[in-house]
Amino acid sequence: MKQYLAGIIGSGLLALTACSQPPATPEAIEPNPSSFSADALARTLSEAIRFETIAEADNPQASRAEFDAFRAWLAASFPLVHAQMNPQDILHGSLWYTLEGANPALDPIVILAHQDVVPVEPGTQDQWDYPPFAGTIADGYVWGRGALDMKGFLVTVLAAMETLLEEGFAPERTIHIGLGHDEEVGGTGAQAMAAQLEAQGRRAWFVLDEGGSSFDNFPITGGPAGLIGVGEKGFLSVEVTARARGGHSSTPPPETAIGLLSRAVNAIVDNPFEHSIDHPIPDMMRALAPEMDGMAGFVMARPGLFGSTLRGQLMEDDATRATIGTTIAPTIISGGSVDNVLPQEARAIINLRLHPRDSSASALAHLRANVAHLDGVTVEPAGSISEAPAISPTNGRAWEIIAGAAVSHLPEGAPVVPNLLAGATDSRAFKNVADHIYRYVPMRMEMEDLSRIHGDDERIRTDALPGMVSYFRTVISEAGMEG
Ligand SMILES: [Zn+2]
Repeated sequence: MKQYLAGIIGSGLLALTACSQPPATPEAIEPNPSSFSADALARTLSEAIRFETIAEADNPQASRAEFDAFRAWLAASFPLVHAQMNPQDILHGSLWYTLEGANPALDPIVILAHQDVVPVEPGTQDQWDYPPFAGTIADGYVWGRGALDMKGFLVTVLAAMETLLEEGFAPERTIHIGLGHDEEVGGTGAQAMAAQLEAQGRRAWFVLDEGGSSFDNFPITGGPAGLIGVGEKGFLSVEVTARARGGHSSTPPPETAIGLLSRAVNAIVDNPFEHSIDHPIPDMMRALAPEMDGMAGFVMARPGLFGSTLRGQLMEDDATRATIGTTIAPTIISGGSVDNVLPQEARAIINLRLHPRDSSASALAHLRANVAHLDGVTVEPAGSISEAPAISPTNGRAWEIIAGAAVSHLPEGAPVVPNLLAGATDSRAFKNVADHIYRYVPMRMEMEDLSRIHGDDERIRTDALPGMVSYFRTVISEAGMEG
């Protein structure tokens, strides 16, 4: 990122006459804290971690007893939520809670969290400082699988709701909380929740799910920042097949299946998808600009003027390039098995992560056009396809609440930055019923902690938990009372 800034500084004099737009970080919203202590919340989270709610794609019922026990624990731990929000079982595992608002004409809000966690990779158990399903509270952290992804979020959002109900909270707008049971292995629970809303002819005002987070040491600025995912990428794998004459390798034809496949893969990789700076990159730049010194800040505040320079810099790094275009990654190749026999067929799998500007259909058409000159080559979709949802707005009241509450729960002056996630979340299932989908976990973490998600020694800071409850209380009460 240092390089990135150095490049920006070289940009033209034109900017001297330009005005910048205001930064994207919105006004802070008055926090609505609860009296929950960090210790009490840590104990609740510790209990939640002890349920081994591991989802398995091939055998959805494998952990059924753990999920059943976890749901009984949820009912006992959050009695008002369970008494007043009519928990509905969806697909034998997901839970959909509803607190009816006084005004049924208002679109509901939806907050999503998933109950399932990924397994601990066999053989890595010993690398954990504390056993992954013990929920140990030590050294200022709650340790265990799911602490970050995402039982910390789940427990604090339910604690927020429980305390609001205790206080007699009666919203104007309906509040839904959806707890998926299989986010890590496909997210059929979230799909069924969204389908139910759609079947009722309803739309959500906004959806809030995991994805972004707040960091104490954001690399670009070196200080705290909140990152809110306003979009995520889609997923498409294709199988490229090349067919040619087989036979003995002593008399090969000019074009063999493997030669043809190589040319097809190269034709695809050499013709990348569009990479350009559009929403939310300019807002991201403007949110960060006040944190940057001198010319770098001046340029970042004016992404419209310096678009081509900024694009050039983003293209240089694999991680930033992936945020502005659809990526192409050949991941599997096969063909032939004996050294003196020509295979009649050779195949490659290419994985694409779709930028929201490309649909799976338009991406497939792009790939096919690039191999159209190669006789004997076909490109077909392989496996499940996930379209990228449209990028959500970074203006309007829903954004002001989600991001404004983030501002009020971060250290003074920390920027709140919209970004595009490379990974996928359950919230994508709601793309037909919501225009505002935001992905933000209001926990305070260090960048290094990211590797603990799905890795060893997953843990969450105990002192971050009350702030998370406060964040959710702020968002739910503000949005719930919004007429
Ligand atoms: Zn997750």
